[in-house]
Amino acid sequence: MFEGLAKRIQNVFAPFGSKGLLKQEDIDQFLKDLRWLLIEADVSLPVVNELVERLREKLKPQTGIVSPQDYLLKTVYEELTALLGSYRPLKVNPRGISLYVLAGLQGSGKTTTAAKLGYFLKRNGKSVVLGAADPYRPAGAEQLRVLASENGLYFESFVENGKVDIAKIQSFMKKSLHDVLILDTAGRLHVETDMLQELSMINKQLNPQEVLLVVDAMLGQEAANIAKSFKEAAPVSGVILAKADGDELGGAALSVAYVSGVPILFMGTGEHIRDFEPFDPNETAAMILGIGNPKAFLRKIMDMQREMEELKPAAKGKDEKFDMNMLLEAFESISKESLIDYMARALPVNANVDPEMLEQGKNRIKRMKAIIQSMTPYERKHPEVLNASRKRRIAAGSGTTVQEVNLLLKQYGSMKKFAKNPAQLKKMLRGGLI
Ligand code: GDP
Ligand code: MG
Repeated sequence: MFEGLAKRIQNVFAPFGSKGLLKQEDIDQFLKDLRWLLIEADVSLPVVNELVERLREKLKPQTGIVSPQDYLLKTVYEELTALLGSYRPLKVNPRGISLYVLAGLQGSGKTTTAAKLGYFLKRNGKSVVLGAADPYRPAGAEQLRVLASENGLYFESFVENGKVDIAKIQSFMKKSLHDVLILDTAGRLHVETDMLQELSMINKQLNPQEVLLVVDAMLGQEAANIAKSFKEAAPVSGVILAKADGDELGGAALSVAYVSGVPILFMGTGEHIRDFEPFDPNETAAMILGIGNPKAFLRKIMDMQREMEELKPAAKGKDEKFDMNMLLEAFESISKESLIDYMARALPVNANVDPEMLEQGKNRIKRMKAIIQSMTPYERKHPEVLNASRKRRIAAGSGTTVQEVNLLLKQYGSMKKFAKNPAQLKKMLRGGLI
């Protein structure tokens, strides 16, 4: 499933895999390609525009600290996740049976979804009743009854004389000792006034915990328009995306979440009763981008974020302030240099320097870096706040000793007096090494 979009979207990222730098013109080209691809993938235009605008603001040229491809993936992933909304659990009636009304067009997957949701809640320890409330399709009630009996759920029909019997539902709920009643209401082939009126009436008289709209994800962005129309007539509180196993999931999920403003709570991912899961924006964003293992990717993103934070160059110009960040940056930069580099850049008098001493120097740098990395951002900017307990914490966090932390602070103090910019600082550090 889904491979079509993921593959195509990967083509947009692929050219950046071999680049060291990311320039503004690369970003512009990337956004152009991405925009075009999303439109082709049936994501509705307002969402595409919003996404591209957000990305345009966020994406900045990169100097090769992280791979441009990872940087782009990470940023797009974050914005997609944000646009997809956030999951919340179903509301529960604290005083009795919880009522979840399912609405949607005919063929959207409503009856199947009623059973899947019931089965999901049953596996979470709830006693669930599936209630038939579609007076126009007697076969639908039978389908629901069969699904209930096949899956250990209770069944009740609330259709009397070709109408939904509201009084029967009310008295059932008053007496019931079950936890949940899921009502499968009438659908139509198109959004029609009488269907919306019926839904609005059920809602007013029964005051359900949730009105859940089942939409067919295979409709792509059209799903968003359907959700919008329903929402205008009845207080739809959540969407269930059925048939999310198709290639259109990306377009449908993004469009529904953004255009209708109703949160997506679950998705159906196949015809089997177990093919149903809480909607996870992170996982869906990962799927859209063809990221195979979202958890591993998330870890990588977190590491990257830390790296980018740590390696952020100190502000340039007259705001440039000597602090631990500048020191860390200098350490980072010289520890990447090779032995030869050290020797070449160090003062000529040190030309016959002992390589072992250099190795020791490098190790010292590693430990110094670890110390700074164990400081909070505030401590790095204001090392003067480091008292005994903070120093102990930093030493423990970096696997060093308080003495080493003190030594670093002492060095920092003397360098602060002389080094006015990163280049001078590096020179001093190199000199100190040998
Ligand atoms: P209703 O008219 O809205 O009640 O729709 P049904 O529940 O009867 O489902 C219509 C069709 O969609 C049936 O053939 C279902 O098997 C199929 N269907 C429902 N949910 C899913 C799903 O998540 N994935 C797939 N592939 N098919 C589904
Ligand atoms: Mg049905």
